[in-house]
Amino acid sequence: MDFKNYIGGAWHETTEAVNNINPSDISDIVGVAAKAGAGDLDQAISAAHHAAPAWGKSTPQQRFDVLDFIGSEILARKEELGRLLSREEGKTLPEGIGEAARAGQIFKFFAGETLRQTGDRLASVRPGVDVDVTRFPVGVIGLITPWNFPIAIPAWKIAPALAYGNAVVLKPAELVPGCAWAIAEIISRSGLPAGVFNLVMGRGSEIGPKMIEDPRVTAISFTGSVPTGRGIAAACGANLKKVQLEMGGKNPMVVLDDADLDVAVDACLNGAFFSTGQRCTASSRLIVTEGIHDKFVGALAEAAANLKVGNALEAGVQMGPVVDEKQLAQDLEYVSIAAKEGGKVLGGERLSLASDGFYMSPALISETTNNMRINREEVFGPVASVIRVRDYDEALSVANDTEFGLSSGICTQSLKHASHFKANAQAGMVMVNLPTAGVDYHVPFGGTKGSSFGSREQGAYAAEFYTSVKTAYTLP
Ligand code: ADP
Repeated sequence: MDFKNYIGGAWHETTEAVNNINPSDISDIVGVAAKAGAGDLDQAISAAHHAAPAWGKSTPQQRFDVLDFIGSEILARKEELGRLLSREEGKTLPEGIGEAARAGQIFKFFAGETLRQTGDRLASVRPGVDVDVTRFPVGVIGLITPWNFPIAIPAWKIAPALAYGNAVVLKPAELVPGCAWAIAEIISRSGLPAGVFNLVMGRGSEIGPKMIEDPRVTAISFTGSVPTGRGIAAACGANLKKVQLEMGGKNPMVVLDDADLDVAVDACLNGAFFSTGQRCTASSRLIVTEGIHDKFVGALAEAAANLKVGNALEAGVQMGPVVDEKQLAQDLEYVSIAAKEGGKVLGGERLSLASDGFYMSPALISETTNNMRINREEVFGPVASVIRVRDYDEALSVANDTEFGLSSGICTQSLKHASHFKANAQAGMVMVNLPTAGVDYHVPFGGTKGSSFGSREQGAYAAEFYTSVKTAYTLP
């Protein structure tokens, strides 16, 4: 078994195992991964539960040293880790290496945060009394992560969890055990005490609910699909467990008549199709005013058709495969739904290439309206639709007419419209003349409406989730 579970400071095999398949070439088995059952999970939770109190009392220096070690090693090995990532998930090698580097930077950022943990001291409203407000760790955090960012998402949950003194049980997505194992392997040599970090690879639907119901797990941070997230929120509510959810998006990108056409095409090409469109921040609704509409659609269609689709590990490839057969079927199904609804489809076909993988051409669907299913439901693939609108006011109203609210963008040279959009877009993140996807690692990440629930991830705001607050009154 190549990718074992890591529980209580030791590597654990499981009786059942899963093949990790390269989506660019299904004859390539990346490795054999553990498949945990309830017993393995119970051991991991128990290890975390016993290790949490001592780690919660560790000094900032101890935490800094551990996180800095992990971050430095990931950065030093970003090419190799990026290759593993691209091989198991299918994003292109430059994207994989970029994501690995980002994971390293996240650990470095939170290493710094260990030294910047502050509290408040206030005068009481009662004479002679002092009030201290301090933060303390939450305890054992269950982390449930998706396949689309196999190293960055675990990193942006593990790093703050450890920085603020918590113990962790990570349950990564079944499709990407390699990156989760690689992080665990680095952590195993970082000086972190045994049991503080545990990796349990297994079926989400089997061990996920057990993790949520276990009273020793005090909080859950989840990134994944809307239905799973909603179920987790309900279960955490029933168990009075702190929870944070990042789910889907149907992110709008508005293109106004006064946009720089090249900037708009670049932003939409990147936002819609890079990482094979498999980003919760992907631009899936391109809302374009009528004066620029035809020029924009023509230019974007040409750019999309010219994207080189292929094996993620080959030089020059700009879009890798879809992650697996099921996701590919879903993407193609949505393209056919959009065509039946009256959309004009360019691309969006399954491709047979030299290596046998889950390839499709990017799909650009024009002449759609915002009430079509293609514009209401998240596809999670290289599929974007275009909605023609009269003017800025209609564009804003269409952009906000969605149950999601993760990211939104506008391409314009008008300061007035850019400022108005920043203030009025119903989303947690707003981009002006930039793709809706692609964010910094030191500032908050998250959305509104049906996209997110609970406090923000990343940056110093992560403290909200990974700590609780204590208010102490003293009469000296
Ligand atoms: P996707 O596969 O589209 O990313 P999912 O929501 O199915 O979205 O998966 C995200 C993560 O949630 C994965 O780690 C998966 O194993 C896990 N998961 C799936 N079902 C459940 C569940 N019922 N409870 C907890 N976690 C789950």
